[in-house]
Amino acid sequence: MKIGWIGLGNMGLPMAANLHSAGYDLVGFDLSPDARAAATAHGLPTTDSPVAVAADADVLITMLPKGDHVRAALLDSGALTVTAPAALVIDSSTIATAEAVDIAAAVSATGRRFLDAPVSGGTAGAGNATLTFMVGGAEADLDEARPLLQAMGTRIFHAGDLGAGQSAKMLNNMMLAANMQSTCEAAALAQRLGIAPKTVIEIAGVSTGDSWALRSYYPVGGAVESAPSSRDFTGGFAVTLMRKDLGLALDAAAAHGIDASAIAEVARRLDLLADNGFGGLDFSALIRLVDGTIET
Ligand code: NAD
Repeated sequence: MKIGWIGLGNMGLPMAANLHSAGYDLVGFDLSPDARAAATAHGLPTTDSPVAVAADADVLITMLPKGDHVRAALLDSGALTVTAPAALVIDSSTIATAEAVDIAAAVSATGRRFLDAPVSGGTAGAGNATLTFMVGGAEADLDEARPLLQAMGTRIFHAGDLGAGQSAKMLNNMMLAANMQSTCEAAALAQRLGIAPKTVIEIAGVSTGDSWALRSYYPVGGAVESAPSSRDFTGGFAVTLMRKDLGLALDAAAAHGIDASAIAEVARRLDLLADNGFGGLDFSALIRLVDGTIET
């Protein structure tokens, strides 16, 4: 089986590296020469065009920032039409449900098959192959993809028809964003009250304030070694990417008459971070607005 991989960023590189070290025949591509160089340094074979990476691929996987990038890399570039005639295309980027459904239709019009398979678990989960996959599409296609996904993650859910994986991911990130905002508020206050971060995590982590934001992504550096806050908020889930996800959620909420005011407030704060030049930092940098470093 020949696998082509497009998008070797914070998530794509470690995911592709895990698949490659599981023994799969995989070639990667990224528009950025730096990302390709980083992949080569990880022992991953790369090519310098989307068509070259997709040529005769039985499986083509995309891990890109937004729907426009997936469309460009897969459809506009001509990559899709050079894959094997019944190739399976798996998009693990987080994009709008409607975009996933549109792209799936374009893929199936060529006789290929599509799964939307966004992930949760952050860069640490990508690195140690413990991601959660939320998959939309045909059960038979998921069965075919399952061994590949299992080389990158530990939990694989069939969320429903095409697009349902993206809907599930959007709902997850709404909760993550609100949890992170409240964790930042509590964490900053704990600093002023003189309560050590590890004490907060130890107590709330087994109490009703528990969340992934608390235990895995605590926004004060030094408390959780693998959290972006322990490396000055670099190499995580960018403010701009979380803002993109909340935009998808706000659009969906408005379309369905849901008042998502907590999400609207976190989105406003992410915009403030981006406007102040922090769009590339991990979104746990929300704490910088909470402790007064940046005016809200
Ligand atoms: P990233 O910005 O680190 O990586 C994206 C990569 O795509 C970059 O290297 C970029 O050069 C490349 N790229 C862009 N357009 C391209 C094109 N047309 N062809 C080839 N390469 C192209 O982003 P990331 O953090 O890896 O996130 C990827 C996706 O996963 C996003 O949709 C994000 O929302 C989602 N996600 C991220 C995290 C996280 O913690 N970072 C967690 C879960 C889901």
